[in-house]
Amino acid sequence: MSDQTDSLARIPVTALRGVGPKGAERLAKLGVHSVQDVLFHLPFRYQDRTKIVPVGSLRPGDQAVIDVTVDHADIRFGKRRSLLVQVSDGTGAMILRFFHFTAAQKSALARGVRLRCFGEVRNGPQHYELVHPEYQHVADDESIHVEQALTPIYPTTEGFHQLSWRDLIAQALQRLGKEGALDELLPSGLLSSFDLPTLSDAIRLLHRPPPELAKALMSEEGHPAQHRLAFEELLAHQLSMRLMRDAHRQQTAPVFDPTIFELPNVQQLLGALAFDLTGAQRRVIDEIAKDTQQPYPMLRLVQGDVGSGKTIVAAIAALQAIEAGYQVALMAPTEILAEQHRVNFENWFSSLGIQVGWLSGRLKGKKREAMMQQVSQGDLPMIVGTHALFQESVEFANLGLVIVDEQHRFGVHQRLALRSKGKSVTPHQLIMTATPIPRTLAMTAYADLDLSVIDELPPGRKPIKTVLVSEQRQGEVIERVRLACESGRQAYWVCTLIEESELLQAQAAEQTSEMLTEALAPLKVGLVHGRMKAPEKADVMQQFKSGELHLLVATTVIEVGVDVPNASLMVMANAERLGLSQLHQLRGRVGRGAQDSYCVLLYHPPLGAVARERLEIMRQTNDGFVIAQKDLEIRGPGEVLGTRQTGEVQFRLADLIRDQHWVEPVQKAADQLIAKKSEHIQPLIQRWIGEKQNYSAV
Ligand code: ADP
Ligand code: MG
Repeated sequence: MSDQTDSLARIPVTALRGVGPKGAERLAKLGVHSVQDVLFHLPFRYQDRTKIVPVGSLRPGDQAVIDVTVDHADIRFGKRRSLLVQVSDGTGAMILRFFHFTAAQKSALARGVRLRCFGEVRNGPQHYELVHPEYQHVADDESIHVEQALTPIYPTTEGFHQLSWRDLIAQALQRLGKEGALDELLPSGLLSSFDLPTLSDAIRLLHRPPPELAKALMSEEGHPAQHRLAFEELLAHQLSMRLMRDAHRQQTAPVFDPTIFELPNVQQLLGALAFDLTGAQRRVIDEIAKDTQQPYPMLRLVQGDVGSGKTIVAAIAALQAIEAGYQVALMAPTEILAEQHRVNFENWFSSLGIQVGWLSGRLKGKKREAMMQQVSQGDLPMIVGTHALFQESVEFANLGLVIVDEQHRFGVHQRLALRSKGKSVTPHQLIMTATPIPRTLAMTAYADLDLSVIDELPPGRKPIKTVLVSEQRQGEVIERVRLACESGRQAYWVCTLIEESELLQAQAAEQTSEMLTEALAPLKVGLVHGRMKAPEKADVMQQFKSGELHLLVATTVIEVGVDVPNASLMVMANAERLGLSQLHQLRGRVGRGAQDSYCVLLYHPPLGAVARERLEIMRQTNDGFVIAQKDLEIRGPGEVLGTRQTGEVQFRLADLIRDQHWVEPVQKAADQLIAKKSEHIQPLIQRWIGEKQNYSAV
């Protein structure tokens, strides 16, 4: 903090030219109040318009300026009318493709005309293409003129477009160093120990990068200026989540009996099970018991690969709460999964005299009211259901524990919603996920949660052998299904479809099921899909479970939770359409019994590079953590966490792959700042997260 200059955090945006009260209001909605906020509106990528690239050296995905001559221009009447302009520069030829164009535009693009174009290179039917490039006509003798600095691309927002942001940022940069400064909020030792640039240098560089830095800035490793800011951003997030967690701990939660394995109900249940708990299950149960003897609410995420036995852990945690006289809510993302939990819990709890309530979205009218009343009167100790449980209208008499299965499908806000259902006390929360989240990502995304890992599968599980087969050999695969079923095994045939429409998916599954019924006669083929009514689905699942059906044709509705140990073969049609985590979840439906299990990934050739990579990974490993790490690398954290839509874990600049190595130093720095109650904590959070942080919702 400087003596002569003012902190730009204290200079309002209205100090900038062109920002009146209206503009300030719109900026405020985006969380931009000060000149500092303008400077922290960072480019999310760069375009290199500083040099002209020979057409012959372009690769798909490149963004480039080219200097070319028109060979010919034609209008194509296909699915979509388009103007195709073939251009070349002596090193190669490519196509400019326009879907919107005027007659005048077309005639101006005559043979021999010279053009300067900028766009992103894509694969086309014959040549590489630029779709709707920016272009300008160039006179033959005109000398080549290109940009001097890299062109920063800003996230644009309603009312503030690229050019407005560039103008605001130019003005803000002028103030930086002259009459204003940015407060350095990182501990000073840190900057020197990691050899990081100062804040002002980093900010200036990211907004005005010299062309020679193009490679570094756009590379996977990034530039020290990006690292500098990524560190700060990750730190701000870490601090904010830690404060949220601290705020959460200010609340009162019920205290349960810590000797969980001694509880009569628990002993009775364990005695009745056909198996012993694994060491990992026992350890996680102990971790839960430690949390629930504290007077503040537990917030624990239990990770365990598919089939690791999370459900019984949840059941024992539930018994602890029920013994203490509290209600337990268990919710799942799909009806099938919730139904399966209900069946399991009823099996386990009925002999203990514990009634299990069932609340689904499909429960309507009087029945629903009756169920709600039982819940609100506290007559039901255990309630299982789907999202419907989240609805405001559900009142619990004394909710002591909330269990959320498959957390990655829920956002934090949904997590919060149920938390507030507890009356005098805030319930403990246990979140279970089969998506193995790589450690660095978990530490960042779930810094407000404690983490338990069930890192051991029940004994006797065998690795699933996975093969890739082109759909041209579907006939052989059907024969393989026949052999398996004739020798007493059962199999799944999963239909996938790109379309979001449940109807189309259902139709495709129906057709497949008809085809397989015919091909496999007299074997019995069943069908489940998302358009069926819950009881119908449950009926088919029951028939499959009892062995009446040999083959179950299903859409991806069976993704989570289905447990039929005799099913040892899974065929996934159009496997190339599925992401890694979905493939892994689905595959986890087999390999649950004593016999060897197989997974056939049927693909539609030719396979693209990314799809091939995914399927190869599936072939090579059964390890959920390896798969998750690959998934993270291929798709990025937003997709892996399933939060792309909900907008969580979205960083302005930090990149959880590139910046993985920062996660631990960031935690240490957060520890330090919190320990000495640093006055930099709030300004850091304000700078990066602003008013988005909402403690009151906790
Ligand atoms: P997930 O972690 O995928 O939810 P489940 O809880 O559905 O796994 O458990 C998968 C299967 O393993 C179930 O049939 C369950 O009864 C069984 N199981 C759970 N724990 C053990 C154990 N310790 N030993 C043997 N089988 C177990
Ligand atoms: Mg499960």
